[in-house]
Amino acid sequence: MNTDSCAASAPVVSTAELDRLGDEIAELSAHLDAASGRLLDLIREFDAREGWGNGFRSCAAWLTWRVGLDPGAARERVRVARALGTLPGLAHALAHGELSYAKVRALTRVATPETEERLLGVGRAGTAEHVERIVRAWRRVDRNAEAAEAARHHKSRALHVYQDEDGMVVVRGRLDREAGAVLIQALAAARETLYRQTKNVSAETFPADVSVEPPTMAQQQADALGLIAETALHHGMDPGSPGERYQVVVHVDAAVLEDPDAAGQSALEHGAHVSAETARRLACDASRVVMRHDPDGRVVEVGALTRTIPAALRRVLHYRDRGCRFPGCGLPLGQGHHIQHWANGGPTTLSNLALLCRRHHRAVHEEGYQVERLPDGELRFRRPDGRRLPDVPSPAMVPGDPVHALRMQHDGLRIHARTAMPTWLGERVSVAYAIDVLHPLATGESDRLAAG
Ligand SMILES: [Zn+2]
Ligand SMILES: [Zn+2]
Repeated sequence: MNTDSCAASAPVVSTAELDRLGDEIAELSAHLDAASGRLLDLIREFDAREGWGNGFRSCAAWLTWRVGLDPGAARERVRVARALGTLPGLAHALAHGELSYAKVRALTRVATPETEERLLGVGRAGTAEHVERIVRAWRRVDRNAEAAEAARHHKSRALHVYQDEDGMVVVRGRLDREAGAVLIQALAAARETLYRQTKNVSAETFPADVSVEPPTMAQQQADALGLIAETALHHGMDPGSPGERYQVVVHVDAAVLEDPDAAGQSALEHGAHVSAETARRLACDASRVVMRHDPDGRVVEVGALTRTIPAALRRVLHYRDRGCRFPGCGLPLGQGHHIQHWANGGPTTLSNLALLCRRHHRAVHEEGYQVERLPDGELRFRRPDGRRLPDVPSPAMVPGDPVHALRMQHDGLRIHARTAMPTWLGERVSVAYAIDVLHPLATGESDRLAAG
């Protein structure tokens, strides 16, 4: 046998040493997997309690910034952490070093509380490669079932509009999820507009002695749909480009305009129901019309519609910043933020602009985050309480011997070199057969899987 010749060329004691080394690798790996289980528990809790919400877009964005994971790995950790919240069997196996993180990660892509037990068996029996193959095949069955359902849903979309005998128009329908979401949002916005207007005028319009019943929700919805239809026709069915969505009217005192250093030289006309700070955010990067007033407040001149940040400058800004500059964000889309607002005389120049995503643009205007540009050109962000928000956080404290510390912490766990060993004995693994036996929806899929 080959092993004999191997043993002959090397001392016997070395083989035993290598075995020990192998065992140590296996045991420490199981410890690390158990620690990963604990880590995922912490991430799940942190995520659920929105510990990342202080300025970060998501738990994954926070992990990228704070722990130094690459964005893909961070998203995956959060996904697995969330999934394990409803999969106690897999969570337990990981926390006890019995299944590797790689296996658990693969299994959580398909496991549901109903199928968890069976998939746990797959994880225990197979190698990571088997698990990966079975999960891929499992997903294909899931996807086929899902696609069939989505197609069925999509096909069933319909809107029936017809006139009733009494002349009323009846509307009945089923909408796609996306179209439905847009409709619900539009109805809410229209209701808000109508309801607010009614509240404002009712005192003058309706005599106090006539008791006016407030419209029911269903009546409000009907009115809202009418307003939506009217608005849509008014705007010629143009959804508008993102940059043109907001148009800001600025009222400027003609006399003050001549002195650009004068404080409060311009005032924004507030949108009907946005706060001043929201108006300032919208105005940061918007279309702008300047109206000059004479001393009596009459409009004497209406300027042409211009962009607050000209297209050429915006291109350079995108090129320089590449994405949102908020620490840990980097989203490649953004709005131009005036560090000193143009309404306060801040210039529209590269040094006074910073690219921020929608989420973080809101953070600096409405949520009290601050940003300033230092003399060396770097940006400095502060939290609402004034603490600095560094681009790179300070590293975590690590004990001198992390492996020893890990073993000490796992005192109660029985982890040894064979804890995570698959029960597979080397026989041929048929993925198609496994899926047929295990997957609740796999009827007659195995032939196709075997072919694929
Ligand atoms: Zn801004
Ligand atoms: Zn951002």
